[in-house]
Amino acid sequence: MIERLEKLRSDTLELLSQLRDARALADARTRVLGRKGELTAILRGLKDLSPEDRADVGRVANLVKAELEKKFDQAEQALRDAQEQKRLSVEFVDVTLPGRRFIPGRSHILRRVTDEIINIFAGLGFQLAEGPEVELDYYNFEALNIPRDHPARDMQDTFYFSENVVLRTHTSPVQIRTMEKQQPPVRVICPGKVYRRDADMTHSPMFMQVEGLWVDEGIAFSDLKGILVAFVHEYFGQGVELRFRPSFFPFTEPSAEVDIQCVICGGKGCRTCSFSGWLEILGSGMVDPELYRFVNYDPEKYSGFAFGLGIERVAMLKCGVPDIRTFYENDLRFLNQF
Ligand SMILES: [Zn+2]
Repeated sequence: MIERLEKLRSDTLELLSQLRDARALADARTRVLGRKGELTAILRGLKDLSPEDRADVGRVANLVKAELEKKFDQAEQALRDAQEQKRLSVEFVDVTLPGRRFIPGRSHILRRVTDEIINIFAGLGFQLAEGPEVELDYYNFEALNIPRDHPARDMQDTFYFSENVVLRTHTSPVQIRTMEKQQPPVRVICPGKVYRRDADMTHSPMFMQVEGLWVDEGIAFSDLKGILVAFVHEYFGQGVELRFRPSFFPFTEPSAEVDIQCVICGGKGCRTCSFSGWLEILGSGMVDPELYRFVNYDPEKYSGFAFGLGIERVAMLKCGVPDIRTFYENDLRFLNQF
């Protein structure tokens, strides 16, 4: 038994001289000195020896145990010292280096355009309203007077999760959701991402819209014009001319598309305005009384208007960006210009 102890001692010392990493060292310690370790097993065997042998072997075993514990401690300490030394030799502080410059981040140009538009309408008394981008068919189409077989669905083909759940094609569902929750007066501005099956230089499958809605007693088309003229003058500059063209939307009657005098050429005609002098920027109209049926408003008592514009479209005009896709490429050389 003394021989077994001696062999264990020399094997372990040999092993210790070779181990160079903390994990292996800890494993070896457990294997030799742990509760199920080799030395512990030998100590357990003492009880089978005669009393005299037990005393001798016990004494040697305890010496070996004490020695090995000490050697393990030393080896661990040596390893820690070596690591610390290595760390110090690699990491050093050069106090003569200039400080690291933090480049402050800022909002994406589309975010900023959105905020500017919201601010203008907030100044005109509109409140912010938001809604889900994954929307029920009911809110995106049905309640906006676009039943399943309506041709307007063709122009707003979208991404379907199921027959009744879609990615919203406009922010108009927020108007329905808002009206469902409160009786007039309602005066809200609804910005957000919308989705359509479109992709080219001026269309993206995901883009941003902002819509406004004002419903109250006695709201007329002149109020719509007044608000939009105020907005355009505030955003694009005083004196920019507006043009209202009759149009069709399923949820407004009458409907108008609004053009502004080209902000690039001042109306003389250029590539951006296709030499017409006008730029189409938004759609608008008086809320179709049919819609009030869906939200329990009294169409005899209330009237209102709605309008919507594409944020990217506005940003493209304001910043002179020809291709909508550059907004989403996250190229800092592009984004830093604004
Ligand atoms: Zn022009």
